[in-house]
Amino acid sequence: MKNSFIYAAFAGLTLLPLTAMAQKTAIDKSIEEKEAVSHFRYLAADELKGRDAARPEINIAGRYIAEQFRKYGASPIDVEDSYYQSVPLRLSAPPKSGQLQLGTEKLIQGESMLVLDGKSLEGAYEMEVAGYGLEEDLEGKDVTGKILVVRVGGPEKMGPSQLFAAGRKKLALAQEKGAVALIEMYNLNNPPWPLLLGYLNKPQLMLADDDKPEDAGIPYIWAKDLDGSLIKSIDQGDIDQAAVAINGKVNKAITSNNIVAVVEGTDNELKDEYVMLSAHYDHIGVGTPNAQGDSIYNGARDNAVGTVAIINAAKYFAENPPKRSILLCAWTAEEKGLLGSAYFAEHPMVPLDKIIYNLNIDNGGYNDTSIITVIGLGRTTADHLIYEAVDEFGLSAEGDPSPEQGLYDRSDNVNFAKKGIPAPTFSLGFTAFDEEIMKYYHQAADQVDNFDMDYAMKYWKAYLLTAEKIANTDEKPNWEKGDKYEEAGKALYGDK
Ligand SMILES: [Zn+2]
Repeated sequence: MKNSFIYAAFAGLTLLPLTAMAQKTAIDKSIEEKEAVSHFRYLAADELKGRDAARPEINIAGRYIAEQFRKYGASPIDVEDSYYQSVPLRLSAPPKSGQLQLGTEKLIQGESMLVLDGKSLEGAYEMEVAGYGLEEDLEGKDVTGKILVVRVGGPEKMGPSQLFAAGRKKLALAQEKGAVALIEMYNLNNPPWPLLLGYLNKPQLMLADDDKPEDAGIPYIWAKDLDGSLIKSIDQGDIDQAAVAINGKVNKAITSNNIVAVVEGTDNELKDEYVMLSAHYDHIGVGTPNAQGDSIYNGARDNAVGTVAIINAAKYFAENPPKRSILLCAWTAEEKGLLGSAYFAEHPMVPLDKIIYNLNIDNGGYNDTSIITVIGLGRTTADHLIYEAVDEFGLSAEGDPSPEQGLYDRSDNVNFAKKGIPAPTFSLGFTAFDEEIMKYYHQAADQVDNFDMDYAMKYWKAYLLTAEKIANTDEKPNWEKGDKYEEAGKALYGDK
């Protein structure tokens, strides 16, 4: 990395084409501090209540972004002249009460059990124990009309997000096989049960079924069984029935919006290709007050600052269109599980194989204003363009300092990487996930008034120049050989 940086720095000094200088000058002229900071202050304002995708105030942010796109001259894709892609979501809130009687053991909602999804249910049912509840575990078993009882997770160790994803698959399978409910017996130390109670015993948002937005399906329950004794007793037949009482389970359809616009490219052939510039504009809303009594989580770093970069891109590229077309996307509900981008990846407004690159922008925070951290640096053949662009604004591009955090797979870019589109995330500079980051990361203190605006300006401009270089490059970027997503790329674009 160091070597290529030195190379890029030299290339920047000695071989810099005149056009590149002109581009930097044009960016400096187009992006005015007062104007950009005003967008930033608006999006991170208290009045927007932390841009929670489950609250109505997020629509004020969405409207604002759409009207900036309109004002600056980026075009809607939709024939109805709308910048919105509506994303059908379902809100699943915990039941008013929930109980599960297993023999002499009584489990209670919010204490020893969690109803994670599904409808209310009342009655006594037979149970069937089936390993982890995978296809092979269910082979030869009849679960029709019964409660399916399985172990949480799978044969291999899983992280929290994998546990949830696996659970969702098991749930779909259980429902398909005719079970009346799915109980996953929780026997893991990590994440610890009390933490799960805090995190999961509250309303959750998820993508809704397009046709049946309010259909919640069968109850999906996690039951605390740390020593594995309950599942053993059920399996041995010592406990033969479950009495379930889940009352007042709330499932509500909600529509949220991705905000999407396009700036057409200037090259007759290349304009059919898109460079997608994306940022999530939602944040985590209103929460526990901090020591100062502030309960509004403004999300300046996460991710009002990235959203402003997309608004700036609408202005700059409408004035200075590059060869390829620019697709501008502001995603909703990233904080609820990358939902807006996941929906777009399944319902793209332009063909996915025409999107040659996704330069996503998302942030936790920063602790080094001399660098830009690019999550996914080293994975695509466009790296030299990133190094060059960032260098021109007196910063240096660095890779992910905390791979153990799994940041690449925790932002919207991953939904497109999975489809094969080269997709790094352009982030504020950080050298470690340290105290300085945690002071603001998902905290009420993440506000505009403690943000370094000189750095914000450089960050926004470096992002634009990077995007411009990629949109103009003759050589179409691709995955580096051997990357986890290289095969997906070949499948999407064709093997060349
Ligand atoms: Zn976040």
